[in-house]
Amino acid sequence: MSDRPVRTRIAPSPTGMMHIGTARTALFNWLFARHTGGKFLLRVEDTDRERSTDAAVQVIFDGLSWLGMESDEPPVFQFARADRHREVVAELETRGQAYRDYMTAEELEVERERARAEGRVVRSPWRGADPATWPDRPYAVRLKSPLDGDTVVADAVKGDVRFQNSGLDDLILLRSDGNPTYNLAVVVDDHDMAITHVIRGDDHLNNAARQTIIYQAMDWEVPVWAHLPLIHGPDGAKLSKRHGAQAVSEFDGMGYLPESLRNYLAKLGWGHGDDEIFSDAQAIEWFDIKDVVSAAARLDWAKLNHLNNHYIREADPVRLAALVATILKGRDFHLRQGDETLIAGLIPFVRDGVKTTLELADAVIFSLKSRPLELPSKALEQLTDETRARLTRLRLALAQVTDWSVPGLEVAVRAFAEADGVGIGKFGAPLRSVLSGGSPAPDLAGTMTALGRDESLGRIDDALSLPA
Ligand code: GLU
Repeated sequence: MSDRPVRTRIAPSPTGMMHIGTARTALFNWLFARHTGGKFLLRVEDTDRERSTDAAVQVIFDGLSWLGMESDEPPVFQFARADRHREVVAELETRGQAYRDYMTAEELEVERERARAEGRVVRSPWRGADPATWPDRPYAVRLKSPLDGDTVVADAVKGDVRFQNSGLDDLILLRSDGNPTYNLAVVVDDHDMAITHVIRGDDHLNNAARQTIIYQAMDWEVPVWAHLPLIHGPDGAKLSKRHGAQAVSEFDGMGYLPESLRNYLAKLGWGHGDDEIFSDAQAIEWFDIKDVVSAAARLDWAKLNHLNNHYIREADPVRLAALVATILKGRDFHLRQGDETLIAGLIPFVRDGVKTTLELADAVIFSLKSRPLELPSKALEQLTDETRARLTRLRLALAQVTDWSVPGLEVAVRAFAEADGVGIGKFGAPLRSVLSGGSPAPDLAGTMTALGRDESLGRIDDALSLPA
């Protein structure tokens, strides 16, 4: 193996979505580049001109940016490099490693049928033809692949994978319309980008054999291959729509944090012992391609939720508040000035049990409502004369509290219950409804601390002033 500085890349085609498998491939490339002090690059494989709209390309940029894995160099666009691809095809011809194939579509069809019947791959009669015999009509250019022996893909995940050359036809490099083919473009681009390690899904393993032959024909150094097992659904079947979200943007929309997804995806096909939760820094320190497993990895929503809960509990409340504000605005919730700050202050009280930022948004809504709150009928029913009288006394007690904090309020509420000769259960539920308008809220002390003294007392006053 050479000692070139490590350069990895992700080479997505703009399809309009960034698949979770692509995100995992990006992550492994990114981790390996960071682990080795190398570079992580992006190439946009935009040769399908119909699908490669600006919007579809933007989805890739947005996906990588959200994941926190941006390219270390400006992205390379494959379509723009078509001239360079043609140049290499010409060079392969000059080297005698490629040839012009003048078979017409009809002739090719006949050869295909014959090859199928004889159980062999397609062979062109133009391989080795004398240029003097070249007709004046469009031609494709094919790679002059070795006919015998094996091509070995030395894969860092799968080990040596052998392909019999007799089973590989002479790959078309340039179509008769002058367009370079996919495998050729990938090799030229990876070579020109000085990519040292090609880490990608194992659906490209067969391409690696083809690509190896092109590298060899050009006398270019073959990169280290690492083909990752695909991601399967929880049931072990290939990941598909019925398993739920597949696009990175969907995970974002469902309220997962990028660091949760990074930690989660790192565990899909790689791991460090039994460690479930680890930081980016740890993953970077530990990651090595040789530790990637070759068996397919299964999505596990419970694990992802567990990780997301962990990272939500760790995250800066100000950052979470901005995410929650966006979610609420998306629900046409009108946020007033200062609400985001309010949300940030509230988050430590409500985040322990939440699995997603959507749940976090649900959990803060009670604090954002404007007075007087509309109380659900169940809460109104609980406001009996007895309860009103008790809440009136409690309100007086609360107004005396000097330490308006969770511990301070816990002490005050307990002392009030004792003085009033009842358990907290006797007034806890109605007080909570009065404070929250029936929305999910933390326990009493947490709710009142989050709301603050004036708002808490005001909400109690509003309820007490309702006609009995
Ligand atoms: N464009 C290919 C894909 O989206 C990736 C090719 C590669 O990584 O070599 O599957």
